[in-house]
Amino acid sequence: MKLYNTLTRTYEEVRGNEIKIYVCGVTTYDYSHIGHARSAVVFDTLRRYLEYKGFRVKFVQNFTDIDDKIVKRALDEKKSWREISEKFTNEYLEDVKKLNVKPADAYPKVSEHIKEIIDFIQDLIEKNYAYVLDGDVYFHVPIFKRYGELSKMSLEELNKHRIEPDERKRDIKDFALWKKAKKEDYEVGAVFKSPWGDGRPGWHIECSTLSSHYLGVPFEIHGGGKDLIFPHHENERAQSYARFGFEPVKIWVHNDFVTVNGEKMSKSLGNIVRIRDVVEKFGGEALRYFLLSAHYRSAIDYSEKAMESAKKSYEKLKNTLLTVDMEIAYLKTFGDRECQEKELNLEEFVKDFENAMDDDLNTRKAIAVLHNFANYINKIVFDLNVALLERTLDCFLKLSSVLGFFEGYKRIPKLREDDAKKVIEREDARRRKDFELADKIRKEFAEKGIKLLDTSKGTRWLV
Ligand SMILES: [Zn+2]
Repeated sequence: MKLYNTLTRTYEEVRGNEIKIYVCGVTTYDYSHIGHARSAVVFDTLRRYLEYKGFRVKFVQNFTDIDDKIVKRALDEKKSWREISEKFTNEYLEDVKKLNVKPADAYPKVSEHIKEIIDFIQDLIEKNYAYVLDGDVYFHVPIFKRYGELSKMSLEELNKHRIEPDERKRDIKDFALWKKAKKEDYEVGAVFKSPWGDGRPGWHIECSTLSSHYLGVPFEIHGGGKDLIFPHHENERAQSYARFGFEPVKIWVHNDFVTVNGEKMSKSLGNIVRIRDVVEKFGGEALRYFLLSAHYRSAIDYSEKAMESAKKSYEKLKNTLLTVDMEIAYLKTFGDRECQEKELNLEEFVKDFENAMDDDLNTRKAIAVLHNFANYINKIVFDLNVALLERTLDCFLKLSSVLGFFEGYKRIPKLREDDAKKVIEREDARRRKDFELADKIRKEFAEKGIKLLDTSKGTRWLV
């Protein structure tokens, strides 16, 4: 499988027995929006596909549970930083669960790794990459000669981009590793002891520390939204490279944005779309389908109309799955049909699907392959016997589950003998136009949780 590496700007083969993935998680000060959902779904799909290919995968995603925004919200709500962080950590986990995102192998939090962060900073100071300034610690950018390589920014651009001009810093580009405690930090309890005095870690150092602590260096894949390339990942790479002396990450993977009705999502525009609101209206799998319907390196535009159409397309796939499963349950109940092994050709779809996913995780194409597969199934489903239908269903479910669809799907059972007799009795009643009896039997089934469907091929059922 090849992935586009932001650092080298080339497509690179994913290599190794175990693929270690680190993805930047959310800052836990508010509910998560569909931009967060995209990153979660994209990297979950990458993980699922690598596992499908037979790689062992270790997946780590952090929570930034100490941050200016958390401190501000805690002050506003007169709570501790911890209460705010815990609440929104849990809300995030609830949200992504509805999108069928598999739990990470570890969800480290900054607040639980202050010691490792201090060690990391100490090491950078000893190696002369960092300096202490009145309780703050800064990374001295000009010493790290490869700074700017990830974001491909010139020195002038980099100088322009610094948002915290501070006369005391040695260079305008220097960024904070440790921040001296301010009054408001004490008020909400976001203060930790360090060799440089009370304070809290800067944002970038946490990811260098947590990724190397949990995965070692170098590790295979570092993911995140493309807004993180600068300054966050540029700084993270600088810190880790400076400490370890080599490239810390093999492939940097960045997903593009979600816009809303053609505009960038932002608090000031008031157009932030929360995950939970979309899930409530359209369902989690439909949102997942929508987010995967574009290539991860293209922007995707959210609108209710786009979601409605994604939901419809997703349901087409689901209906095919149900049709196959209903057919199997029907044949198992009323007797299998004769058929030849010959024409079943699933390998072609598997190959097309893998080719799409191998090509820089092209989920847009992979979804198109699933639809081709579904169309094929719809054509042959009433000609196959149970064994061939089972093979078809397995294959369809397996590819779908790489994209995280139909998670926990429950198979439709065959009917018990007395229920099968009732179905025949009802079909007879319908033929005689005794709709009263037919309705009565349908209701009896409904009470048992079985929904009878009258199709052109006869009675089928769902549970
Ligand atoms: Zn990060």
